[in-house]
Amino acid sequence: MSDPFFQPVSGFDLPRFAGVPSFMRLPYLPPDHPRVAEVEIGLIGVPWDSGTTNRPGARHGPRALRDASTMIRAVHPVSGVAPFSVCNCADLGDVGPNPADIQDSMARITAFYQAVMARGTRPLTVGGDHLTSLPVLRALAQDGSLGMVHFDAHTDLFHSYFGGTMYTHGTPFRRAIEEGLLDPTRIIQIGIRGTMYDDEDITWGRAQGVTIITVDEMFARGIDDVMAQARSVVGDKPTYCSFDIDFVDPAYAPGTGTPEVGGPTSYQAQQVVRALAGLNIIAADMVEVSPPFDPSGGTAWLGASILFELLCVMAQAPK
Ligand code: MN
Ligand code: MN
Repeated sequence: MSDPFFQPVSGFDLPRFAGVPSFMRLPYLPPDHPRVAEVEIGLIGVPWDSGTTNRPGARHGPRALRDASTMIRAVHPVSGVAPFSVCNCADLGDVGPNPADIQDSMARITAFYQAVMARGTRPLTVGGDHLTSLPVLRALAQDGSLGMVHFDAHTDLFHSYFGGTMYTHGTPFRRAIEEGLLDPTRIIQIGIRGTMYDDEDITWGRAQGVTIITVDEMFARGIDDVMAQARSVVGDKPTYCSFDIDFVDPAYAPGTGTPEVGGPTSYQAQQVVRALAGLNIIAADMVEVSPPFDPSGGTAWLGASILFELLCVMAQAPK
């Protein structure tokens, strides 16, 4: 049964351009809200881009996605899934980072997510750059390592940057594997492309057992075949889904820090997420939307649309 309290504001009741924006027009429940323990899927903003090594701006992602996501309606057009009728969903607000201190920010993020997990809420994160995923995974993987379906133009498996800096948005999954948060044999990375520094990240990842699918391989084999492999790699155990908006071609998603041409369309991005339906997706993130690089707002709109796809997949996961 759907609780009226957890329903988004309908565009039939208040125009979509009106009101204070929350994710998908859901109720906003700060941590001390009396009903916060009833939230089953919590949308959380992490406005933080201190891991960015090149073009910044993803710290502005959550606010832009809150605004764009007011366009989202309640029912999925293909599957018919109505996530707000299946689960109590809410906007749990932002984690306040310390923009001048990476370690302090990661500690704040992990602590926030530990409290969310302790309440039995499954988190759907809006970043933030891709380093955001590491402190989130530290909170999620306390009962054992997770699988991951990772959509990205980049592996984010590098050892370090600038001669020994270990925590950047190019290293989160190297650290997550080293820390035992992710089981490398249950990771699949899809969409990898672009010019390379070297092949250290790919070589290391494959040596750990990570399945790495370049965009060339994805287009050659087709989405159905690749996503069938993704389902096989992660199996039915708890799995994280991480979606870097630079997976999508910059023609559709120019508002990101590290765009790579030759990528999937916005429709193909929807297709790959829809193929996760029924998997045991316990949490997901949408990262690297950098609104200052796309004054049209189109990238934020795409990000919000993929966020709804991720929400529908989480709503369909076994409880
Ligand atoms: Mn990434
Ligand atoms: Mn990327």
